[in-house]
Amino acid sequence: MSIKRALVSVSDKTGIVDFCRGLSQLGVEIISTGGTKNLLSKEGIPVIGISDVTGFPEVLDGRVKTLHPAVHSGLLAIRDSAEHQAQMKELGLDYIDLVVVNLYPFQETIAKPDVTYEDAIENIDIGGPTMLRSAAKNHAFVSVVVDSGDYSKVLDEIAAEGDTTLDTRKQLAAKVFRHTAAYDALISDYLSNVNGDALPERFTVTYEKIQDLRYGENPHQKAAFYRKPLAAADTLTSAEQLHGKELSYNNINDANAALQIVKEFEEPAVVVVKHMNPCGVGIGTSISEAFRKAHEADPVSIFGGIVAANRIIDEATALQLKEIFLEIILAPGFTDEALALLTQKKNIRLLKINGLELGANRKSQLVVTSIDGGMIVQESDVHSLQESDLKVVTDRAPSEEELKQLLFAWKVVKHVKSNAIVLAKDNMTIGVGAGQMNRVGSAKIAIEQAGEKVEGSVLSSDAFFPMGDTVEAAAKAGVTAIIQPGGSVKDEESIQMANKYGVAMVFTSIRHFKH
Ligand code: 5GP
Repeated sequence: MSIKRALVSVSDKTGIVDFCRGLSQLGVEIISTGGTKNLLSKEGIPVIGISDVTGFPEVLDGRVKTLHPAVHSGLLAIRDSAEHQAQMKELGLDYIDLVVVNLYPFQETIAKPDVTYEDAIENIDIGGPTMLRSAAKNHAFVSVVVDSGDYSKVLDEIAAEGDTTLDTRKQLAAKVFRHTAAYDALISDYLSNVNGDALPERFTVTYEKIQDLRYGENPHQKAAFYRKPLAAADTLTSAEQLHGKELSYNNINDANAALQIVKEFEEPAVVVVKHMNPCGVGIGTSISEAFRKAHEADPVSIFGGIVAANRIIDEATALQLKEIFLEIILAPGFTDEALALLTQKKNIRLLKINGLELGANRKSQLVVTSIDGGMIVQESDVHSLQESDLKVVTDRAPSEEELKQLLFAWKVVKHVKSNAIVLAKDNMTIGVGAGQMNRVGSAKIAIEQAGEKVEGSVLSSDAFFPMGDTVEAAAKAGVTAIIQPGGSVKDEESIQMANKYGVAMVFTSIRHFKH
């Protein structure tokens, strides 16, 4: 078989003129719709209007252009079926051997901040996906191109053999169904959001690949990095890498964790993450002070860590950062001086995050955790605690300074794997107990790590104390104030224990499990 007739109808006209000129030079007849036809004609490429094929005008503001039996018979006819051949002949219809279509820009349309509902609806392409699907179904005979990245390959094959190979046609068809599925998924996602239907009965969001990764969590696991359509700008999926080696799977996971924590703080803050947990968090009046604190928090674990800052990295901070082996520094930007210093280190990855949204105003997103055979979905935990939400449950209320440190520690503990205990003092974490199977175990780890610094520190716990033992261990070590959700049947035991040691304790009534 050879390709004799092509139907070309594209919204994104990138590369289409050269491709069609090539096709035309190879003797392929080109049929086209309104805008595409105008462009090709203007470029001097011979083109037949779709109405000449359908015998029907393009109507209803372009809603109906190619939706016609003459088009779809031409696409769907089984070329080696005598019956189909006879019917085509009888009806005076011609075959279409190649379809080149890309769709109305629905995603770009709904990405516009001032998009109207009507505009979104009008940008749902109907004829395009229908042609793509007809051609893709009949890929045994028909080639279908939805991606301008495939133009040159297809043109080369036609130039060489008069047709594409079956293998290519299968790949092109698979791409089409991925494309139309993603297109429809986005439409349904948009309409679900419009309806406020956040967790529909069928979950259809599709993702587009950003890059393949060298490997997954371990070298024997394949991996890739995907982006959700319309992901917010201040996510890792839109990060700009300014320097350093390619990101690894573990890098991305850790950097994402670091970013979530640093977004909690409106004041200058720096977070160091290791293996998804913060090992040091510091806040200050400047980003260099915040980094000094985050470093001092745990000068051992920071080695090979991921650092996220919520302010532009300046020279003073870069001078400190430069002294430490780090995998990644993530920030809203770097001054020229800072960049000059840090890029002297060959391997360090420098990532710029645009439009960082800080503090309490962050919108909740859906978070997916895959399980064997399925997934579980929940809203992200963007709960932001106000001072007025706190209930003092002990004889002694926290001092102003204790309160400040408690609220700081609470923001951090939310991001530590449960059971989570965070000790804080002087605007920095001094001990983090993460992921232990009992709460007092996490507390002991945090206390041990704090060492001498534990004296006069405060403690946050992501969930209530099932008994008084954690309070006792903390109080004995020198902790003076505690923040925790409360809500245990044995709250009274913890409260009495706190009173016994003169510890101030507040309840938040909010739990921050993170498993
Ligand atoms: P053009 O710029 O050539 O006028 O329009 C190209 C766009 O129209 C392509 O994105 C194609 O998918 C879309 N299209 C082609 N046929 C139809 C149709 O019958 N109905 C609708 N709604 N869109 C179509």
